[in-house]
Amino acid sequence: MTARPDIAVVGAGPAGMAAAVAAAEAGAHVMVFDEQPGPGGQIYRAIETPGPAGDAVLGADYAAGRGLSRAFRDSGAEYLPGATVWQVSPDREVGVSVDGRARIIKAGAVIVAGGALERPFPIPGWTLPGVMTAGAAQIALKASGLAAADAVFAGTGPLLYLIVDQYLKAGVPVRAVLETTPWSAYLGALPRLPGALLRAGKLRQGLGYIRAIRDAGVPVIRGVSGLAVAGDGRAERVAYTHGGHRHEIAAEHVFVHQGVVPNVNLTRSIGCRHDWDPAQACWRVATDAWGATDVAGIFAAGDGAHVGGAEAARLGGQLAALGALCTIGRIDAAVRNNRGAPIQHALAWELRPRPFLDALYRPAAADRVPAGDDVVVCRCEEVTAGEVRATAALGCLGPNQLKSFCRAGMGPCQGRLCALTVTELLAEATGRPPDAVGDFRRRPPVKPLRLAELAALEPDDTDGGDAGP
Ligand SMILES: Cc1cc2nc3c(=O)[nH]c(=O)nc-3n(C[C@H](O)[C@H](O)[C@H](O)COP(=O)(O)OP(=O)(O)OC[C@H]3O[C@@H](n4cnc5c(N)ncnc54)[C@H](O)[C@@H]3O)c2cc1C
Repeated sequence: MTARPDIAVVGAGPAGMAAAVAAAEAGAHVMVFDEQPGPGGQIYRAIETPGPAGDAVLGADYAAGRGLSRAFRDSGAEYLPGATVWQVSPDREVGVSVDGRARIIKAGAVIVAGGALERPFPIPGWTLPGVMTAGAAQIALKASGLAAADAVFAGTGPLLYLIVDQYLKAGVPVRAVLETTPWSAYLGALPRLPGALLRAGKLRQGLGYIRAIRDAGVPVIRGVSGLAVAGDGRAERVAYTHGGHRHEIAAEHVFVHQGVVPNVNLTRSIGCRHDWDPAQACWRVATDAWGATDVAGIFAAGDGAHVGGAEAARLGGQLAALGALCTIGRIDAAVRNNRGAPIQHALAWELRPRPFLDALYRPAAADRVPAGDDVVVCRCEEVTAGEVRATAALGCLGPNQLKSFCRAGMGPCQGRLCALTVTELLAEATGRPPDAVGDFRRRPPVKPLRLAELAALEPDDTDGGDAGP
């Protein structure tokens, strides 16, 4: 492992790979860290090692990642798979563990391209064995060709339909799709339709998935609310309200999904400014047009900065590379602006359908903030919505104080899974907007790190080079 790169990139998804290619092409020494065994990120997971679920199952959008991963491999960027980044300091020191050995590497600039997470879906029974996210089901399919027959898929968002379509193409029967998109969302999205129609191909692709699912004879039940999974020690049935009546379907596997949100743990722990995004109901790191955060030399790109999909992530990665190259003095602002202009144009075009999609697939408030007090919110510490509400009634001011009262957000995931629910629950309970309630404070290590690795850090493992802004 070489220390003191010009640019360190966290994440080898579309954003990280594209950033690395662009920065390396400009002659910068680039190091890319990703905890996965191969490049690709979420969409192109296992792109170099196709499993039993090949391109025919995963589709053309998946196969398109092969060109980017080849360009990445050929770029000359130094790539470290299996490398978990547990810290990035405001002065650009990257703490990373590879093969059980921790190192701290100082970079001239850092591009955080850590991607998105699936939004929590806190419903009764979501912690039962047999219930997992649809994205997790897709990971099993992409990485190992594993799939569960006769699962019920429930929730909202384009990814839900894509994954059901992939399941069907893999020949795996699906029992039903329970769509939780509220009817009001269709009306709310309507005024934004004209902008999205400029990219009609994208919309047709989504409609194509829905048609294929219906053609396969899978019941698609729209306007579902009140989802709840029940069973004796594991999922056995899923209940829901539709047309004013309660219904139930037997299911051993229930795959839930209501969109993806930026994973902000790393950018939060660096101390970058974050804002509440009311359209996507999530936190996002504040950046300029080049992905620069308000911390000098720290950039953010891809879905980790703003959820826009794989192509937007690729373009965002290229822009962040130009921003970082300019910051470390490899190119001047005129070159950056010149090279960046067509990329910014392409990004704006790519994002045209977003306002429509964000409005249509913004999950219902009742699916983001559980009505029932006994629903588990923080899975690590098993804290319920009722405990959070009771703590708010005692006068708790925000998520960080909540930790001392009931330990919500103090488990190994550091609030990755519960932070949004906690913020919105406290906002509801205290009558304040989410940005006034705030978020959990995240601190390094943002990923579990063995004490032995930390203790074994030697002074020369920490490279104090002073390259950078
Ligand atoms: C579960 C899931 C499945 C998805 N599937 C699809 C799909 O099939 N099709 C689609 O169009 N979109 C999919 N998406 C949306 C997807 O986020 C984008 O399309 C695209 O992958 C975003 O690219 P990215 O480079 O920003 O992030 P990602 O592709 O998510 O890449 C981020 C990379 O950063 C790495 N990383 C994160 N934190 C660290 C750390 N601390 N240390 C080391 N490495 C780290 C991760 O291992 C990952 O490889 C999915 C999203 C999720 C959450």
